[in-house]
Amino acid sequence: MQSIERCQAGKTGNFRYAVLDFDGTISLVREGWQQIMTPFFADELFATPGGKDMGYDACYLAAKEFITLLTGKQTIYQCIHLVEEITRRGGKPLEAQAYKDEYHQRLLDRINHRLDGLEDGSIDPETLTVPGSYDLLQMLLDHGVTPYLASGTDEPYVLNEARLLKVTPYFGEHIYGAQTDYKTFSKKMVIERIIRENNLSGEMLLGFGDGYVEIENIREAGGYAVGVASNESERAGIDEWKRERLIRAGANIIIPDYCDIGALEKELFG
Ligand SMILES: [Mg+2]
Repeated sequence: MQSIERCQAGKTGNFRYAVLDFDGTISLVREGWQQIMTPFFADELFATPGGKDMGYDACYLAAKEFITLLTGKQTIYQCIHLVEEITRRGGKPLEAQAYKDEYHQRLLDRINHRLDGLEDGSIDPETLTVPGSYDLLQMLLDHGVTPYLASGTDEPYVLNEARLLKVTPYFGEHIYGAQTDYKTFSKKMVIERIIRENNLSGEMLLGFGDGYVEIENIREAGGYAVGVASNESERAGIDEWKRERLIRAGANIIIPDYCDIGALEKELFG
């Protein structure tokens, strides 16, 4: 199988900075978050008068679609959207933050054993990364590219999970995540800041992500976007649902992971 799918032409060879998403792009610590959020949100939609009329399956699909399109943004935006959808269907929603708290608690129940295993050394961090992640980061550094990590997950968790996966040294201080005051952070802001502070043109900017939002942000800034359609549960092959949406978001190329690092290096740096 071909490891690189070319979707849109773009200028390569001159990259100086890279912005990488964390969950699903580097980290698999939160693998399965979609299977927590989607049924939870579907239940909330189905509990509304409009949701009852739609039926559960339609509620589930509606939830999956808006969750996917908001993937890459901070989690609170998915919860804000849920509040709007509940209201639109005649329900009485809680505050968005309440949905975020409940979702996060359910997710932590699922992933706590991974965090514990990484902390006590019983889990090899490599097994909880997208295959080839360390090679990718080293390859970027070898080409003089400064990598930035930008995640929609709350920053204290990103810092901790990056440490547990031993990727912190590649990024140094350039690790950014969601803030309590959610308006003070976005991936778009991180990208704009890199461009402003380093007086860059877009073609010097490279982005990696498995979410709609970061691909769109990188392309809007004139950068080159690598869509990582990672299959998080299998750690192999393409996630077809992600792939379709990454192409729609404007990804220049689609890859499943970084296993074929030689081919990726050639594609990006010639
Ligand atoms: Mg992601």
